Amino acid sequence: MKAVLDRLMLSERVADGPPAVAEIVEVGPRDGLQNVPTVVSTTAKIAYIQALIDAGVRRVEATSFVHPQRVPQMADAEAVMAGVPRPAGVSYIGLVVNARGLDRALAARVDEVNVVVVATETFCQRNQGMSIAEAVRSFAAISDRARSAGLRVTATIGASFGCPFEGEVAPETVAKLVRQCAGAGADEITLADTIGVGVPADVQRLVRAVREVTDLPLRFHFHNTRNTGYANALTAVALGASALDSSAGGIGGCPFAPAATGNIATEDLVYALRRSGIESGVDLSRIVSAATFIGGELDMRLPALLGRAGDFPGADFPGADSPGADSPGGGS
Ligand code: MG
Repeated sequence: MKAVLDRLMLSERVADGPPAVAEIVEVGPRDGLQNVPTVVSTTAKIAYIQALIDAGVRRVEATSFVHPQRVPQMADAEAVMAGVPRPAGVSYIGLVVNARGLDRALAARVDEVNVVVVATETFCQRNQGMSIAEAVRSFAAISDRARSAGLRVTATIGASFGCPFEGEVAPETVAKLVRQCAGAGADEITLADTIGVGVPADVQRLVRAVREVTDLPLRFHFHNTRNTGYANALTAVALGASALDSSAGGIGGCPFAPAATGNIATEDLVYALRRSGIESGVDLSRIVSAATFIGGELDMRLPALLGRAGDFPGADFPGADSPGADSPGGGS
């Protein structure tokens, strides 16, 4: 009975509950590009970010300040940040894993930093070469200095929904890390399904556990590895998430997570949100153009479907594969 009531409350919240707004954090330039083997030129990265801004995106995870040998695609972080457009209202996020990375991020004039603390020991060691306790201490040190410099700080809890090495991750484990990061000065918490294993019921369990320990804005990071990413995203919004990560075209992965596939695609997410009455401020046609641009640079077929299928009939733009006047009929 309680589950039924919870479901009813969830749907009512979508139907009635203001604000019907969800912020998109475009992570294609960072999480999207860092796992593709094709190294994209700095010029193309800047053009890609310009196209995302033109589409209405206002928060962009633009790059990461990690060791260039570890993630060669991000070796031009400073050059990218020196070349991006800086219109009012646009906020650039840099991923940072240590003090050296923060120094670089500050020098490159990012607006926000995102710091990852992975929820399991094995993955934390493999991802950033430290224990969870060390990662929390590192977060606290980075957070202190970043906030003193006037930057917004996000703590991302990696592998919140499951770990490629240790399997199940208890919501209480995630909540404990969230409490520690909130206490250490986080402005926002991101719960990341780094390897794309979560389902909507996990989102509910995690939100419940995390809301016991913090009132901070909650952002979610989903990969569509098992085709549950969009259902998870809509569930998160219904449960009060303020922001969602996605990448134009659905490019992406994680170089340290075996078999992690792309982020949920910005255009497919924006479509699902808009048809649910939730505004993101992102223009569907223009975000498809941004995805097509980066898909061309990578010479890859994009996982996203909106560019192929097109918008809702009669709206905005036709898809590359949608039936045109010269197509034979016979569909069912
Ligand atoms: Mg990711």
